[in-house]
Amino acid sequence: MSQPAPTATGGQTYADFYRRSIEDRDGFWREQAALIDWEQPFDQVCDDSRAPFARWFVGGRTNLCHNAVDRHALAHPDRAALIWVSTEVDREIVYSFAQLQAEVERMAAILVSQGVRQGDRVLVYMPMIPEAAFAMLACARIGALHSVVFGGFASHSLASRIDDAEPTVIVSADAGSRGGKVVPYKPLLDDAIALARHKPAAVLMVDRGLVPFERVAGRDQDYAALREQFREVRVPVTWLESSAPSYTLYTSGTTGKPKGVQRDTGGYCVALAASMRHIYQARPGETFFSTSDIGWVVGHSYIIYGPLINGTATVLYEGLPTRPDAGIWWQLVEKYKVTVMFSAPTAARVLKKQDPAFLTRYDLSSLRSLFLAGEPLDEPTATWMAQAIGKPVIDNYWQTETGWPILAVCNGVEPAPTKFGSPGKAVYGFDVRLIDETTAEEITEPGRKGVIAVEGPLPPGCLQTVWRDDERYVKTYWSSIHGRTMYSTFDWGVKDADGYFYILGRTDDVINVAGHRLGTREIEESISSHAAVAEVAVVGVADALKGQVAVAFAVLKDPSRAAGDEAARALEAEILKVVDGQLGAVARPARVRFVHVLPKTRSGKLLRRAIQAVCEGRDPGDLTTMEDPGALQQVKDLVQAG
Ligand code: AMP
Repeated sequence: MSQPAPTATGGQTYADFYRRSIEDRDGFWREQAALIDWEQPFDQVCDDSRAPFARWFVGGRTNLCHNAVDRHALAHPDRAALIWVSTEVDREIVYSFAQLQAEVERMAAILVSQGVRQGDRVLVYMPMIPEAAFAMLACARIGALHSVVFGGFASHSLASRIDDAEPTVIVSADAGSRGGKVVPYKPLLDDAIALARHKPAAVLMVDRGLVPFERVAGRDQDYAALREQFREVRVPVTWLESSAPSYTLYTSGTTGKPKGVQRDTGGYCVALAASMRHIYQARPGETFFSTSDIGWVVGHSYIIYGPLINGTATVLYEGLPTRPDAGIWWQLVEKYKVTVMFSAPTAARVLKKQDPAFLTRYDLSSLRSLFLAGEPLDEPTATWMAQAIGKPVIDNYWQTETGWPILAVCNGVEPAPTKFGSPGKAVYGFDVRLIDETTAEEITEPGRKGVIAVEGPLPPGCLQTVWRDDERYVKTYWSSIHGRTMYSTFDWGVKDADGYFYILGRTDDVINVAGHRLGTREIEESISSHAAVAEVAVVGVADALKGQVAVAFAVLKDPSRAAGDEAARALEAEILKVVDGQLGAVARPARVRFVHVLPKTRSGKLLRRAIQAVCEGRDPGDLTTMEDPGALQQVKDLVQAG
């Protein structure tokens, strides 16, 4: 089933546009680069002489904050830029581009006063409040790298990121709020700093007045007081060479140690500016509403940078999609005349459980499309959503690593139909191939499953490297396809005869819970830290609401600790508390079940896929290499018992 193509807007075909992006790469991207301001033009479009490393717009000098804020503040000072809506604390503030620039300059002055210099890192651990956006843009302004850590992560996750990023300053707040319940941030941050080897020179605290907190003398600084002090200070932008890093963002992989995805400046700016036109079709002066969080890549690219670079106002929303009621997002669409929305399939599934009348109560005439990304979009949800709001629902597929879509329908180039279940075709700039896992040969026939890979160089805007670990970048992303230097997405896919791809799940141990990417290794390490646990396996299991949930199977040092339902439940609760405290509720498994032995091969390799299959009621496949077939039977019995 498919949705019809929207009305045509331009003359060229997408096939030609795409072909040119691959065959005349430099000419293509030189044109796209004109969408942003350069303080100094670049000499070379792409330098991939050190492949798989690539540098884009070499020699050019630009600045993300200038492109996102200053240039629009100059041309349209009074136009809305940042629209903050919090249904948690019942506040709404609209910042014009001029006001946003003033706030960003104040924040930049504060960071400089705390010793932040070009190239330094600033870790941002904040709820969805305007100061988080000011901090990110202020870093970009002065050439410091921001490293935003999702507010749902707890002290251990935060500590490992502090040690990896080694921030000069951490910007945080007293608390966030979720569903009306105050979620303190400061105690978690203090614990994380205590755990971390690296100690920041200063912690800049935004006091929202939600919860009292302890201040560490000499280290903790008060944002409001410093803001007053630097109220009138102007901080000019620092022009940066295009390849200068703009930020790091941590994402989960197959090991317990998250990877710091490092992004450049000029390439990212161009890629986002182009995507706003060709994919999302948002215009300057309009309003874009992405419901993600600044802690995730969608928040970086399509709450903060993408819309603002395009001169489009962006909604920063603190709250749930269902509070005060399930009409809140649509009420905001009406109020702020949102033209483009961006959300995740899980959010759509949450809304699907509510009364559909909430979706039609408001005037949605400004809205052109709703984009969904981050996890597979199932057909019933897509169809329901499209009918409920009467607008096209458009899937798109990408990763933290790429920063913008790999697969999409580029309606801004040539309107094309969407096919349910498919995020679309290869996006311009991405030379996407399907690769046979065993032979490493390219699959060209429609319908055959392969690994989705990209021939280098990756287009502008994608990760430059793993922060401080070039070797890990090459080894992880460019060496998994035997005998070939190709970027692996670690996703399975198939392609149909029209060039539309369908995603069939990860090839590695990464799971996707409500659009949040989690490494099973990280959760296993946390569970293993409980004194009673000898060994544990965590798998992702299909879930009707969240796409997947994590389920843990643990072997206990003393099995009698879980003897009887009550004891097992009590121990399960204890273990979940450990995960909550270390990683955060976002990583909490749906269940921890206790087994005598884990299913493994004779060589000792954990059979995660077989466990997952049993949990999902599927055939676990060939088990001839299994050490103890009874191990899987116990998993099966537990799952069937519920
Ligand atoms: P993240 O880096 O957190 O954005 O997660 C990226 C992963 O999410 C991808 O590698 C896919 O496994 C999954 N993903 C993202 N977008 C989609 C989509 N539109 N359809 C299916 N899976 C998706």
